[in-house]
Amino acid sequence: MSKDISIIVPIYNEEESLPHLLKRVSEAMRATDFKWEIICVDDGSSDRSAEMLEELKADYPELKPLYQRRNYGQTAAMQAGFDHAEGDVFVTMDGDLQNDPADIPMMMELMEKEQADIVSGWRKKRKDDDFRNFLSRTANKLVSKMTEVSLHDTGCSLKAYRKEVMENMRIYGELHRFIPAVVSQFGAKVVEVEVQHHARAYGSSKYGNIGRMFRVVLDLILLKFLLRYINRPMHAFGMTGLACLVPGGLLMSYLFLIKIFGADIGHRPLLFLSVMLILMGVQLIGMGVLGELLVRIYHEPEGRRQYVLRDGPRLRKKETAVKSSKSSASKAATAKASAKKPAAKKATAKKPATKKSAAQKSTAKKS
Ligand code: UDP
Ligand code: MG
Repeated sequence: MSKDISIIVPIYNEEESLPHLLKRVSEAMRATDFKWEIICVDDGSSDRSAEMLEELKADYPELKPLYQRRNYGQTAAMQAGFDHAEGDVFVTMDGDLQNDPADIPMMMELMEKEQADIVSGWRKKRKDDDFRNFLSRTANKLVSKMTEVSLHDTGCSLKAYRKEVMENMRIYGELHRFIPAVVSQFGAKVVEVEVQHHARAYGSSKYGNIGRMFRVVLDLILLKFLLRYINRPMHAFGMTGLACLVPGGLLMSYLFLIKIFGADIGHRPLLFLSVMLILMGVQLIGMGVLGELLVRIYHEPEGRRQYVLRDGPRLRKKETAVKSSKSSASKAATAKASAKKPAAKKATAKKPATKKSAAQKSTAKKS
């Protein structure tokens, strides 16, 4: 049976938090009219988390536990949750009680009001240590600069996504931190709202600050490449290749000329520089060609398209939209619409948002 909301929570060694988590989520959700489920994905915990999830099923019929065979990481756990979710809206949150499920009804209301595809939490009054907060602020500024989505807090796990936007993408590595930026390539509208944040009550963080910093920087480079050049790697590698090859070629021609007129060029650093530039240029252009071949292999076997169509114009019919909550938690005042929505203009037919035509379904196939 389909649900309104699927709450997806990755769990890695959170045995002490689990009973409180289930209690708080069900208190928040039972006070609303939503049909909901909570998918706790055990990410190969070495403590009793998996057994506890099995036990908690008796008290919470809405609980759907998934058990990963080993510790694949938070991103893979979230993806497993997305793959098994039955809701029209997916809400992700942490399993350590740092996010507050009481914010979910308000986020749903905002999603409806703003016709947003993603509502992203902003931990304005964050309860982490100062160094961590500083790193996070810097990362958020970088992400906002490098992508089209400018959020104060891209790393907040508490986010709500419409199912349609998640169907078009898969997340790998640790890209769970950047889902709004990844999804922005499909023209998703992202809205940010202030949410509560609590200090970790039980257990400890699963990430070190320094390790996370380097991984975030590498992920950002990858993200920039994915967003800009995924369909045209030749432009990324080819341009850099030409930027090496042209000066290298010119320098080599100059050296060749003066050699003809009798100069000794064997000991000149310029010779080494030009040889290096030419070699780099040729290799980069070669990588661009290989990249283009890979793009074709990536898109063609499963009939993937380079584009995704929307079901209809952004304004959805009232009755097909997500139900608004019973509680009138309307502290959504700080909401801030941010991402662009270029695809809206390209929408082809006026249809109720929840029903896809067969043709559109095929274009929206998972990548
Ligand atoms: N988590 C996971 N697999 C991992 C690491 C973390 O499923 O390999 C879960 C963890 O149990 C928690 C969430 O991801 O529910 C966020 O982790 P954590 O609280 O340690 O991150 P932080 O709040 O320090 O960013
Ligand atoms: Mg945490």
